Amino acid sequence: MNRELNFDKSPDGLIPAVIQDAETGKVLMLGYMNQEAYEKTVAEGIVTFFSRSKSRLWTKGETSNNFLHVRETLIDCDGDTLLIKVAPAGPTCHTGDDTCFQEINTGKGQFLNYLQHIIRERKANPSEKSYTASLFAKGVNKIAQKVGEEAVELVIEAKDDNDDLFKGEAADLLFHFLVLLEQKNLDLDDIVAVLQSRHVKQ
Ligand code: AMP
Ligand code: ZN
Ligand code: ZN
Ligand code: ZN
Repeated sequence: MNRELNFDKSPDGLIPAVIQDAETGKVLMLGYMNQEAYEKTVAEGIVTFFSRSKSRLWTKGETSNNFLHVRETLIDCDGDTLLIKVAPAGPTCHTGDDTCFQEINTGKGQFLNYLQHIIRERKANPSEKSYTASLFAKGVNKIAQKVGEEAVELVIEAKDDNDDLFKGEAADLLFHFLVLLEQKNLDLDDIVAVLQSRHVKQ
């Protein structure tokens, strides 16, 4: 059966168009098309959207020259979404990134929570090979002492300007700090909560 686009499904006559890099498979952006934008896109082989903020046809790249050259156009099962595979002439996002999509929070903060999770796991199920488990086996005083040592090492590296050494000691400190928190049955979130409560008071 031949699929047809149905622009009337949505009251504003717009259909979302997912833009994917034909080469890498990366999803680059999402835009909307009305019938006119779609026809212009087909006619020119370059993606034109209907911009909801500009309230007009918007050819992606009209000022930046970062046009999206159409390679393949797919329609979904019920004709209300487009998937357009393109060859981008340059970065698609106006931030200069190749794609408009980015992990919320860039995942860095979340990794600390994940690491805390692993540390908790090592405490609950100690194995002989685990350095983390060996720290727990030595007890709170030893762990606290280790935090102190790493802090001193960080202080020493702060005086040099070797960023890599400094970052390494900062990571050591953060790791042992997390182990100490875990030994005291505390969570990174507990400490963040204290910081947040102070912040509100200011
Ligand atoms: P361009 O179409 O690349 O010439 O960009 C023209 C304007 O459209 C920019 O100044 C932005 O305001 C907007 N714009 C460009 N690229 C994007 C995008 N990927 N997503 C949303 N807005 C964009
Ligand atoms: Zn659909
Ligand atoms: Zn963007
Ligand atoms: Zn160290």
